[in-house]
Order: sequence, then C-alpha cells, then structure tokens
Amino acid sequence: MNEHPVRISCVVPAFNEAENLPNLLAQLSAQLAALSDQWEIVLIDDGSSDATRAVLSSYAAMRGLVVLHFSRNFGKEAALSAGLDHVRGDVCFILDADLQHPVALMPDMLSAWRDGAQMVYLVRENRDDEPIWKRWGSLLLYRLINFGSMVQVPEDAGDFRLLDAKVVAALCALPERNRFMKGLYAWVGFRTLALPYTPAPRLHGKTNFSGMRLINLALTGLTAFSNMPLRLWSVFGLVLAALSLGYGGYVSLAYFIDQRPVAGWTTIVAGLMFFGGIQLISIGILGEYLGRVYDEVKQRPRYIVDMKQDNSPLADECHVLHETPSSSVNHEHPNA
Ligand code: UDP
Ligand code: MG
Repeated sequence: MNEHPVRISCVVPAFNEAENLPNLLAQLSAQLAALSDQWEIVLIDDGSSDATRAVLSSYAAMRGLVVLHFSRNFGKEAALSAGLDHVRGDVCFILDADLQHPVALMPDMLSAWRDGAQMVYLVRENRDDEPIWKRWGSLLLYRLINFGSMVQVPEDAGDFRLLDAKVVAALCALPERNRFMKGLYAWVGFRTLALPYTPAPRLHGKTNFSGMRLINLALTGLTAFSNMPLRLWSVFGLVLAALSLGYGGYVSLAYFIDQRPVAGWTTIVAGLMFFGGIQLISIGILGEYLGRVYDEVKQRPRYIVDMKQDNSPLADECHVLHETPSSSVNHEHPNA
C-alpha cells in the first residue's frame, strides 16, 4: 500500500468522550496501521469531567498514543492548537473523537496528499440534519466573513482534515489567542483540495456546540476575520446622518416658509430612543473587538497542559513549540 514510508500524525480533541474513546482508538489505530508503520495519535483531553482521564490511563502503554491532559476545559480551538503544536509527522490528520468523521476516508485523503495537495478538507454533502436557524446563521456568518475579503473561508468545511507538515508549521507560527481554526486554515493558504463526505451521527453523548458556545465561536470568527461589522456601522451612520439632515432641512423650511410648526412630542421621543439604541449597539460592536484586542494583549498561553503521556515512535524528532513547563511531566500527576 505504501509508495514510500510516510510518518502520520493525528490530532484528536476530546471533551467528555469516555464512551467514544475505546471505539475511536480501535478504529483509528487499525486504519493508521494499514497506511504506515510510523504513526502517532495526539489526543487532547480538554479538561473532561467524565471518565475520559481514567479511560485514557488504561491506554497508557499503547504504542503511538500521545495524550495531553489540559488543566481545565480550554475549548476545541485551543485543543486543536495544542495538538498541532505537538505533532511530528509528515502529514497530520485532524478528526473529532465522537466518530462523526469516518476514518475510512483517510486513505483517499492521503492519496490526494501524495498527488500534491498540501491540505485536504472534507465538505459536508448536505446539512439537512441541521436546524434551519443554524444553516441560515452559518450562511450569514460566512457571507459577512468573506465579503470583500482576499481570503475566502469555505462555508461547509468541517474540521476533518489532512495537513502537510508545512501547513502545520504555518499554523503553529500564528501567535493569536482568539483562534477560529476554519478561518486560519484558509488564511495560511497552500494547495488545498475539498472532498465530499457525509458525517456520521455522534456515537455517544451530545454535541458541545449549541447556544452560547456556537454564538461565541461565530463572534470569534467574525471579529478575527472581518472588519465588516465596524465598516457597516460607519455606512449606516452616514446614511442615518444624511437622512436626518434631509428631514431637518424639510422641517426648518416648513417652519420658516409655511409658518407650520411641526407637532410631535411622540416623534421626538421615538427618535431619541431609536438613536439611543443605535448608539448602544455600535458601542457593543466596538466592545466586541476591544475585548478581543485585550485578550491578545494579555498574552496568556492558549492552553495549559497538566500532564503529558508520550508513546510516539516519532518522538525523537520533536518540534514542540508552545509547551508550558508543566507539560513535560511524563508520569501520573500525584493529585490525579
Ligand atoms: N471538543 C473539545 N473541547 C470542547 C468541546 C468539544 O475538545 O470544549 C471536542 C469534542 O470532544 C469532539 C469535537 O471537539 O471531539 C467536536 O465536538 P462536538 O462533537 O461536540 O461538536 P459537533 O460535532 O457537534 O460540531
Ligand atoms: Mg461531533
């Protein structure tokens, strides 16, 4: 099967996935073994509160498995960044721990890489399983992000990807803390290929991305990749100012020429409230950007590794970029 030996890494973020991990590790390691004899799985336990840690400790001796236990839940984007910081292969797969991303597609992705693609991502064939508000919301988000932008972020792309080592290095070199990975994949560029796929249903448990978490992610994406909300607001302000000027002129003329005073306590109050609302919304939008600038300025690490287990055969040529001092601990934490 192998045309030449390739060292394969996999990044798998896991938050409360205890029930899915045995299945995932069995399927993934079998698929990887069929593709190469040099592989590693970098699994990030993103501060899980279920039995994920205990389940993973039972795999402590599994060859090829690298586990990073975060000190708390930092979110999927941080988990992906940590994974990428620790991989050492020539190619890197990224996939979810809930078996929604079929491992059977990995050989096709790898052959696309062998044919010259530096990034291969999978695009959902349809989104019929999603509620209408989610589809419309995501359409609006990507329209806003992509409007007038040099970098186009594909809308239906998921996180199931193959990245060449060069792409991994480029992503790791990006210093920002507010990370919207789908945008960053597009931003770094490289020869990219999209393949169609139909995601499987989650094996156990339920999605972590609903309500506030989804809104947060959308806001991160929007503020990180677009200044459009700020600009739209300037345009809106200009239009409103022009309209008010016109109306002001009309009212003045009516008063001075026709001697017709404009009645309207109601109009004034409605106008005041409208403009009060507009000002608050614009302050809110400014605040959204400012808050993120503040996060960047603080320069806190994007994640903290409490404990690391490393059984990777690729361990000798390490290119760990953002490891914290505590992350080099290779034994069980005394308080764990
Ligand atoms: N995940 C994570 N940290 C979080 C939330 C999710 O590492 O704070 C992982 C989760 O374990 C899964 C992947 O991210 O492997 C995708 O999450 P989920 O299945 O909940 O999202 P969906 O597939 O519904 O978009
Ligand atoms: Mg999922």
